[in-house]
Amino acid sequence: MRVITTIQEMVAERSSCASSQKVGFVPTMGYLHEGHLSLVREARKENEILIASIFVNPTQFGPHEDLASYPRDLPRDLQLLETFGVDTVFVPTPTEIYPPGFVTYVDPIGPLATEVEGATRPKHFRGVATIVLKLFQIILPHQAYFGQKDAQQAAVISRMVADLNLPINLRILSTIREADGLAMSSRNVYLNPEERAAATVLFRALQAGRMVFDTYLKAHSLEGVSAVVKTMAETVLAEPRARLDYAEVRDPDSFIQLEVSHAPALLLIAAKVGPARLIDNFLLRADGCWDIGIPVNDQ
Ligand code: AMP
Repeated sequence: MRVITTIQEMVAERSSCASSQKVGFVPTMGYLHEGHLSLVREARKENEILIASIFVNPTQFGPHEDLASYPRDLPRDLQLLETFGVDTVFVPTPTEIYPPGFVTYVDPIGPLATEVEGATRPKHFRGVATIVLKLFQIILPHQAYFGQKDAQQAAVISRMVADLNLPINLRILSTIREADGLAMSSRNVYLNPEERAAATVLFRALQAGRMVFDTYLKAHSLEGVSAVVKTMAETVLAEPRARLDYAEVRDPDSFIQLEVSHAPALLLIAAKVGPARLIDNFLLRADGCWDIGIPVNDQ
C-alpha cells in the first residue's frame, strides 16, 4: 500500500493507472471503525484500484467545534486499510489542501445546505463540498463511497455531482451500528460508560418515530409528520443525559420539510450526549422499504 502526502505525488500516482482500470475512492477523516470499513470492503469488491483518504478537514468544523480534539490514530488506520486491500492512501496536511491565499469554496445553497445540520453548523456543508470536490479533482475516481449515516452530507454531495456534471458514480451505503443500535462514529470515543449507554436514545427515538410513521403512511397526513417529530423529540427528552438538537422528517434528496407522511422520507435526529454531538437517521425509500442500517455483526 502506498501512502502519499502531496497532491503532486497523488496526481502522478493516479495518472499511472491504466485507463481501463476502474478507480474507487473512500474519503474519510480517519479514526476508522466498521462504518468506514464497510465502505472500503464494498469499494474493494467493485473496483480494480482502491484509493482512500484520511484528512480531518478544518473548513467543515465551526469555530467552537472539536477540530483540535478530533480523535486521530494514523498508524492504526494505515494498518487497517492495508489489511482491507487498499492500494493507495492519500494523507495530505491542511496546508497542502488549503495553501496560503486559498479563496475558492464550493458553497451549496438552499434548505439542503442551510437547514437541519446546516442550521446548527452554518459553514459545514461549504467545507464538505469544497474538500470533496478538491479530492475528486485530485483522485479522479470512477466511483466514490459515502455513508448514509451522514445523510445530509450524502445528499449535498449527490446534488453537487449532478449540478457540476461530475462523471462519478456515487455509492451511498447503509449505516453500520453497534449491537445495541448506536450508529458507529469516530466521536463515540468521547463517551464515558454512562453516556455510551444513554447514546442509544437516538436509535430508540428513530425506532419509535418509524413505528408512528408506519401507522400514518397510508393516510398521507400532516398530522402523521408532526406525530413522528413529537415521538422522536419526547424519546430524546426522556433521557436525562441527552440534549436534543433537532428531530425532523425531511425529503431525503432536497431536505425540504415533508408536508405529509409518504415515501420517500428521512427521519433525522441530532443530540448532545455528554461532550459528543451525535447524529443518526432512518431512511424510508421510495419503494416503501426502510433502511435503518445494519448491526456490525450482521454485515
Ligand atoms: P468520517 O470519517 O466521519 O468523515 O466518515 C467517512 C465516511 O464514512 C463518510 O462517508 C461517512 O458517512 C461514513 N460513515 C461514518 N460512520 C458510518 C457508519 N456508522 N456507517 C456507515 N458509514 C459511515
